Amino acid sequence: MAGTMTHFKFIEDLNKKLKLENYNLFLLAGQGHDLLFFIKLSELKNFTKRKEIINIIANNKFDKTIEIWQKEILKTKNKNLEILMYGYIAHHILDHYVHPYINKISNNFKKLNHETLESIIDYILLNPYNYKFPKYKLNKDVKEELNKIFFETYSIKNIGTFLNNGINNLTRFIKIYRLDKFGIKKQTYKLIDGFLKNNKQKYEFLAFRYNEEEIDFVKKNNLKEFNKLYNLALEESIKIIKEIRKNINNKKITKINDISAI
Ligand SMILES: [Zn+2]
Repeated sequence: MAGTMTHFKFIEDLNKKLKLENYNLFLLAGQGHDLLFFIKLSELKNFTKRKEIINIIANNKFDKTIEIWQKEILKTKNKNLEILMYGYIAHHILDHYVHPYINKISNNFKKLNHETLESIIDYILLNPYNYKFPKYKLNKDVKEELNKIFFETYSIKNIGTFLNNGINNLTRFIKIYRLDKFGIKKQTYKLIDGFLKNNKQKYEFLAFRYNEEEIDFVKKNNLKEFNKLYNLALEESIKIIKEIRKNINNKKITKINDISAI
């Protein structure tokens, strides 16, 4: 995935061209399958299972999901369901373009793992401390329709409910786990990573607090290539979403290519 702030920035840029109504929902929808990550503390035990689901939907049958999604939009005429689909598509395309690059770089530099590199780019592109996080409450119909779409493609229950919960939990998740004005969370995560030395999952990157050296390193070495891929993803997203929108207005379904977001 690209980072959360990067996905917000991407929708910001995209909407300059698309001018969709209901911008807040579009911003949240642009978090795509990452929404499944934004869980409550009480659901922590489900985290591994969530990760598995994310892997499946990020890598398989994107084309089929979007086809079924369009059919459901034509059937229900639900405008929110349509905006959610455009956000989901934009997320997937951005990940598809930038992911291979992030993987390549983080394999070459042991110090900068995948998540840290992503998060530093996040921090540079759109400062989370000055950002007003969007809010939106979906109604029940949309949740059920999403459940149906994803079940039809993947035979997995409740993905729509998880996406909806992610939309509700996102802001709180970032405040609790990521914003770190005083550096306390960073220190805590460091301790945890130390304790769980053999754990593959590291937490230190989570705190939006990186030292100047790391930030300068990323600015100097990574941003140019990253921006190039970002802009390609932007052009592609504008093209695809415009076409789907036009066709939906004419009650037609657009076939798109199956691309992976890993
Ligand atoms: Zn992602």
